[in-house]
Amino acid sequence: MSDPAVPSAWIGTSWKMTKTLAQAREYAQALARVSWAEGLQPFVIPPATAISAVADILPPGGPVLVGAQDAHWEDAGAWTGEVSVPQVKDAGARLLEIGHSERRAHFGETDERVNLKVHAALRHGVLPLVCVGEDAEQRAAGSAVELVSSQVRAALDGVASSTQVLLAYEPVWAIGAGGTPAAPEDIVDVVAAIAEVGGPARPVLYGGSVSLDNAAGLISVPGVTGLFVGRSAWEVEGFTALAEIVAQRST
Ligand code: PEP
Repeated sequence: MSDPAVPSAWIGTSWKMTKTLAQAREYAQALARVSWAEGLQPFVIPPATAISAVADILPPGGPVLVGAQDAHWEDAGAWTGEVSVPQVKDAGARLLEIGHSERRAHFGETDERVNLKVHAALRHGVLPLVCVGEDAEQRAAGSAVELVSSQVRAALDGVASSTQVLLAYEPVWAIGAGGTPAAPEDIVDVVAAIAEVGGPARPVLYGGSVSLDNAAGLISVPGVTGLFVGRSAWEVEGFTALAEIVAQRST
């Protein structure tokens, strides 16, 4: 029998670098009015400026998890411009996104730093959400499975196999406005590899140009237990519609 405290499906969004405080509050208030399907765990990841405002409306322990888009691996210190895990936790975050491809591409996020951040999150009881994925060139070269498996291995180095960590497969070629949406058959092998390397305690989410048109197919891929969404969930109606699709397919 499954444990009712362990979610059977996940739906989440990162707002990236969008939304004013007023927009963030309006979205959070709409989420606070939703009756979520049993077993479905929704999460929302505002920019750092809005974590506290969103968590006031969606407090820790409630049905919607609030996250942070990044945090430093040190707890405090002379790191101008950075925020730490204790700080985002203090603001109300209970989930930490780590290793998004935009951070890997533009901000020097290495596998080693991803691993340090996973340990920092776990030290403070914050759930890590590790993003992995190959770029178009790596896919064309046939090295997607190998590359993504090594990203997962590096992220989880030194983490006990029973410790829950969320893994998000986000192929770089599928993400963002210039991305090409993946078909379910495009992701089957890499998802299977992530599930194998990650182990049974680790839900695997899929992200990259998820929309109302392709969500049902993507959530039906064996091993995918949630969707992680950018643009299609930046309006709350998109988020709730995608949540319903995930709930119907997997709870
Ligand atoms: C992302 O960047 O993690 C993402 C999933 O974005 P989008 O859905 O907009 O492709």
